[in-house]
Amino acid sequence: ARTTPSAGVGDIKGTLTEAHKKFKGLKEGKNADYIPALAKVPSELFGIALVTVDGKVYTEGDIEKLFAIESISKVFTLSQVLQESGEKQITDTVGVDATGDVFNSIVAVEKNKGKEMNPFVNPGAIATTSMVKGKNADEIWNKIVSIHSAFAGRPLELNEEVYKSEAATNQRNQAIGKLMEAYEIIKTNPEQATDIYTKQCSINVNAKDLATMAATLANGGFNPVTKTKVIDQKHVKSVLAVMSTAGLYDTTGQWLFKTGLPAKSGVGGGVIAVVPGKFGIAAFSPRLDEAGNSVRAQRAIEFITEKLNANPYDIK
Ligand code: GLU
Repeated sequence: ARTTPSAGVGDIKGTLTEAHKKFKGLKEGKNADYIPALAKVPSELFGIALVTVDGKVYTEGDIEKLFAIESISKVFTLSQVLQESGEKQITDTVGVDATGDVFNSIVAVEKNKGKEMNPFVNPGAIATTSMVKGKNADEIWNKIVSIHSAFAGRPLELNEEVYKSEAATNQRNQAIGKLMEAYEIIKTNPEQATDIYTKQCSINVNAKDLATMAATLANGGFNPVTKTKVIDQKHVKSVLAVMSTAGLYDTTGQWLFKTGLPAKSGVGGGVIAVVPGKFGIAAFSPRLDEAGNSVRAQRAIEFITEKLNANPYDIK
């Protein structure tokens, strides 16, 4: 997969430009407002980026603008845990099934001791963060930022404003952390796990960073821009499976139906999608639909997937 040339996938730059033009007037949805700092991000921002497995970068629109990664971070913290502890660490604890419930629901925790969840709903995600090894909070946090940075190919930083804002208003996630301790899925210090989870959600990225992160997954865990290995190839299929199952909250089925692509969204307005062996794509625009997914980002990626014949189930 590593050397598959991007030639043959079509006019990429032209397609990104077309998608941007087509959806920049779309005003549907609204910024996340349950995290006060996210409500203030200008709603009109709209960026799209695509990075191929041979390291070519294509961009369109607001591409430098930094925003909070939010739930997209769950993909990379999961990658860290798989790399450190292997698949069983996840399948034996939070599981890899769709819950059908909203991202911060606790309903699935009550079923089969929480084993029928996944690392992308909040109870599973906070538990996954708690599984990153380290002797103290700083060491764990540094590992999490490092793997995000390795996927992105540059040192990423914390958005302090979003972190403070979310830390002051995340009582529900704190309760979820405690609940996961009660179920013995989080072994120790749920307060620390929830705090580090909140921090990982506040990592600043731009659309190009996210597309590079997605391209690293498309390329078997090897960053095609920096030419460095980030995770073992054998773990990539596990990460992509969870993205296919639970990447867009409770509307993941609808997304897969339209695109066939493993993807992940965040309430900061970012969405990533992975075309294995070909490219990673990311789009960012703050207005979200009811499920918490960026409206423009979804439309743009759907359009580009169709134009570039990137749905792996659509054999032409
Ligand atoms: N930090 C957010 C939360 O846990 C992430 C939500 C998201 O992007 O889905 O509420």
